[in-house]
Amino acid sequence: MMNNVAGSVPLDTLRETALLEAMAESGCPLCRSIWRDDRRSQTWYVNDGAVDHKTLVRVRRALGFCGWHAVTLVLLEGHAYIWSHLGSALLYQDIWQQRVLPALQRSRPHRAHGLLWSGLWPFHLARLRLQLASQEACPVCADAAHIEAEQIATFSRALATHSTFRASYSASDGLCLPHLFKVMEHLATGRVLATVPGELRATLVQPTRRRISHMGRFLKGYRGKLALSGTIRLLFGANTFLWAAHQARLDLDGNESEWRCAACAYADALLMRACADLLAAPVLPHLCDWHGWFLYRFAVSAGVEPLFTALDRTVAAQLLFLDAQGASLASPQQLLRSCALCVWGREREAALVREWWRDRHAGLEVSGYPELCLPHGRLLLGQLPALRLSRAAALALCQCAEHLSEQLAGYISHCSEHQQASMQPAERRAWQDSVRWFGGLMGNETLKWFSHRPPHKCGACS
Ligand SMILES: [Zn+2]
Ligand SMILES: [Zn+2]
Ligand SMILES: [Zn+2]
Ligand SMILES: [Zn+2]
Repeated sequence: MMNNVAGSVPLDTLRETALLEAMAESGCPLCRSIWRDDRRSQTWYVNDGAVDHKTLVRVRRALGFCGWHAVTLVLLEGHAYIWSHLGSALLYQDIWQQRVLPALQRSRPHRAHGLLWSGLWPFHLARLRLQLASQEACPVCADAAHIEAEQIATFSRALATHSTFRASYSASDGLCLPHLFKVMEHLATGRVLATVPGELRATLVQPTRRRISHMGRFLKGYRGKLALSGTIRLLFGANTFLWAAHQARLDLDGNESEWRCAACAYADALLMRACADLLAAPVLPHLCDWHGWFLYRFAVSAGVEPLFTALDRTVAAQLLFLDAQGASLASPQQLLRSCALCVWGREREAALVREWWRDRHAGLEVSGYPELCLPHGRLLLGQLPALRLSRAAALALCQCAEHLSEQLAGYISHCSEHQQASMQPAERRAWQDSVRWFGGLMGNETLKWFSHRPPHKCGACS
């Protein structure tokens, strides 16, 4: 096989050693190794990064983090050597003060020139939409994509060139399906080999195939949570499961945030219905690892039987697929599909939330504005030509941002060993409220499931 190698590529010995160590543990070695690097890289944001100018500018440009990464950052803050949520609190306060509040406050009507302001509203709205359009994606998502690409490159190179690496991999649990397809794609696009030799392809596929077959038997013999979570990790990836097992000092017990975005509450019911529909389908579609974890959490609370049935069928279908494709896997790009629930969120849920907002404002005047998170606020700002609806979204966003930023300022100012005693209950919850405001539905859902776990005390909150 060594003769088939197109060229000798210098190896990243450290990363390769980490992969070999991960192969000795359970589950997909790429998932585990990427998770370790993700943790190392994310710790920067809640430590020195929170006062580093370049990092602040980057986070500000992206308007914070996606919902899931908003939660992983506070999980890291639960780590033994960080005693509070001060790091993420400083990042959020910076975005509010430097970017969000100045933009929103400019769009608020002044009583003195109400009529003039009404006439100028289309101009204000266009400017606000531009100011609240994030210029970059979540910075942690970008870092994580870079880490994953590097790990996949190292894995592919080592598998193609090292017989000891191949032997360790053959004895391991194998890659999860998404990583199997990504490595196959990396190999096949010629970045490592001109063509993927049949023998190498078989070495790559065989441990995963063996593991899927094992999980199929396990599902039939042991109908417990371990069989469910093990199969979902294998089919959709394990990154979120690894994070979710991370011991955090979230201190949600008795201190759970009361702040809820009204649109998130509405979308939450839609998501539950979408999960139930998914479980009724003959075979589960492709999901990202967060939605795989989410479906597991949903099934554990709503009844696991439908998930067992769906996984039984999905495992059987994947085995047939791997056996049929094992000989060629000619266009692995076709295997890298989008997550069905992510697509549903972008399309169906977004449309239904817009309808909900329209119905809510069907009357001539609505008294007060509902609580609104940033992602849903931005979605509803695109309500033209119904200016009244987008104006209501802007005012709701402004009201929430001012209130939550004030609570967070209280958390920050009392976040020292000497000041803790004077921290108010609403200030103690301010970091959770911030995660919910910036993270939207995804941050909300993750915190919801984490709140059922035993609490770990936060130094500032206890
Ligand atoms: Zn994996
Ligand atoms: Zn992210
Ligand atoms: Zn929301
Ligand atoms: Zn997804």
